[in-house]
Amino acid sequence: MDLSGNLARHELVNCLKGEGPDRNLFDAADTVLRKRVGPTVYLRGLVEISNKCRKNCFYCGLRKDNNSISRYTIPFEEIVDCLESGYSKGLRSFLLQSGELLGKRHIELIERVLKWSMSNLPDVKMVLSVGELRFEEYDRLLHAGAHRYLLRIEASSPELYSKYHPPDEIHSYQARLKNLEYLRNSGWQTGTGVLIGLPGQTEEDLADDLLFMRDMDIDMIGMGPYIENRKTPLWERMNELPSTDDRILLTLRMIALSRLLMPRVNIAATTALQTVSSDGLERGLLAGANVVMPNLTPPAYRENYNLYHGKAFVGDTFEEIIENLNRRSRSIERIVDISNPGDPLHFSDRMQVQQEESNEKQ
Ligand code: SF4
Repeated sequence: MDLSGNLARHELVNCLKGEGPDRNLFDAADTVLRKRVGPTVYLRGLVEISNKCRKNCFYCGLRKDNNSISRYTIPFEEIVDCLESGYSKGLRSFLLQSGELLGKRHIELIERVLKWSMSNLPDVKMVLSVGELRFEEYDRLLHAGAHRYLLRIEASSPELYSKYHPPDEIHSYQARLKNLEYLRNSGWQTGTGVLIGLPGQTEEDLADDLLFMRDMDIDMIGMGPYIENRKTPLWERMNELPSTDDRILLTLRMIALSRLLMPRVNIAATTALQTVSSDGLERGLLAGANVVMPNLTPPAYRENYNLYHGKAFVGDTFEEIIENLNRRSRSIERIVDISNPGDPLHFSDRMQVQQEESNEKQ
């Protein structure tokens, strides 16, 4: 099979089914990565600012009806302490993540952190992953100094999406899609992603997810293996899950195929991948990922941000995290550039095309 970027759906399905040596697939992705975006690994300091959520996704430990976790929102002062501390050690990009909340106070907190960051850390790139908001709130947060937004579609097929979410208005597939399109069209560096290895999901579904992300022209991808959580309704379907090894392999194949189909996007080696595989970081990077998100959330809060059980922590202190990442990246001939905010090159390409199109129209 020709592993060029023009892979057809049936070829994606074949690769996802492992028909053909994985080594060839990962090597092809690594070659494209080195040629089109380079060997650099970019970091985003992750701060999980709140584990409160208004939604009830069937797979997620933060779902509203899970009463077994203590809910928190990190106060403003502690969030900016995390940013300041990461910044003083060289980090220039931070990701603020939370469950989905529409309350005024939540948006005001994020806005305040962004404005503080714009005044005090002007050379950082701020990434948000805080779920669906109102369109005017996206504009407000972009204006307050954010640059990138991650909104995972989770499953690009409406039918599959409806199996993993309650059938009500706040979990609407169409609304999520519209939010993603709005972000992409309104100046955000836009990311999305899917869960991999869900019960009932096929390789054909995952091939469609890849084509969806390509056709959406997104700039960043964050996707990882589905990890079961006892405190969620999907736990009942445990017996339908692919084995952990199969979910890891599927995730690596998805990363590699994403790199082949969308050479210039940023792709994360996610915490979920690192949780289910002790060498998940290296394997993710070798399959074509180029972003890692070390967790800067203060330990007192971390244990309650449990999307799933057994979340990986790569060392406790920032120094340990960076030392670990450096050592492991070097071992596979990759370079961590801690102070490079690492904008996705695909975003500049996309902006250039938009500019050319608008020039042509004038
Ligand atoms: S996946 Fe996101 S929106 Fe859904 S319950 Fe979890 S945190 Fe909330």
